[in-house]
Amino acid sequence: MIRNTFFVFVLFSLVSCVAPGTSFEELDQIQIDEAIAIIKNTKLDEPVERSRKESVILVENIIEKITPATDQWCEDNNISKARCSWKVNYLDDDMFNAFASGRNTITYTKGLMNGVASEEEVAFVIAHEVAHHLGNHIANAQRNILIGSLAGRILGSVVDGSDDLISQTTDLGARFGSLVFSRDQEKEADYFSLLILKDSGYDLLEARNIIIRMAQKSERNSRSTFFDTHPTGPERLARFNKTYSQFLKTNR
Ligand SMILES: [Zn+2]
Repeated sequence: MIRNTFFVFVLFSLVSCVAPGTSFEELDQIQIDEAIAIIKNTKLDEPVERSRKESVILVENIIEKITPATDQWCEDNNISKARCSWKVNYLDDDMFNAFASGRNTITYTKGLMNGVASEEEVAFVIAHEVAHHLGNHIANAQRNILIGSLAGRILGSVVDGSDDLISQTTDLGARFGSLVFSRDQEKEADYFSLLILKDSGYDLLEARNIIIRMAQKSERNSRSTFFDTHPTGPERLARFNKTYSQFLKTNR
């Protein structure tokens, strides 16, 4: 147990200094202030209670709708069909959360499904987790662990890239959700998520409500790994707004 805890600690400290692939422009204070005002002034619809069955059907529906867009993405980026077909799991857990793990698995919780109002909000979360897979974020996080000399010593006999290590880190990823990702990977996942939703015909402003909702929740001190590890609510919303206005300008 002590060894596990220490391993987790090492994992987090290594991952937090990862240099990611996509770089994002800094936001200015006006954009952040605008986002803060939206978070403060938006009155969202109340969350809808969903049974397990309703949740599963809803998420399957979302997967079906986004699949043409993600298939295209995979084709364009030479990602194999096997890695591009999404496995989704419902987790009977009250925490408002979702995470990507393994090669193509996405897990979402009962707490999430009962914590949002619209399909678009759920779609944003699912597309965000899909985006972690498309961006190869899990493999990158694992590689970053492998190159850490401290992690190497801690892991001892575990050989580079062995199944053991992969499953260990995947388990950790599964347990701690998006904690294994860096903040820039999170920004990238949000950005990809918007592209996927737009190409799938979703109403992006409706989807944006989940970001506002999470920011409002986190102000009330609700805990979830889904927002602990992500950029802060206002920053996330400001980035969303920026991308959205770029879409409008370029009409793409
Ligand atoms: Zn994430």
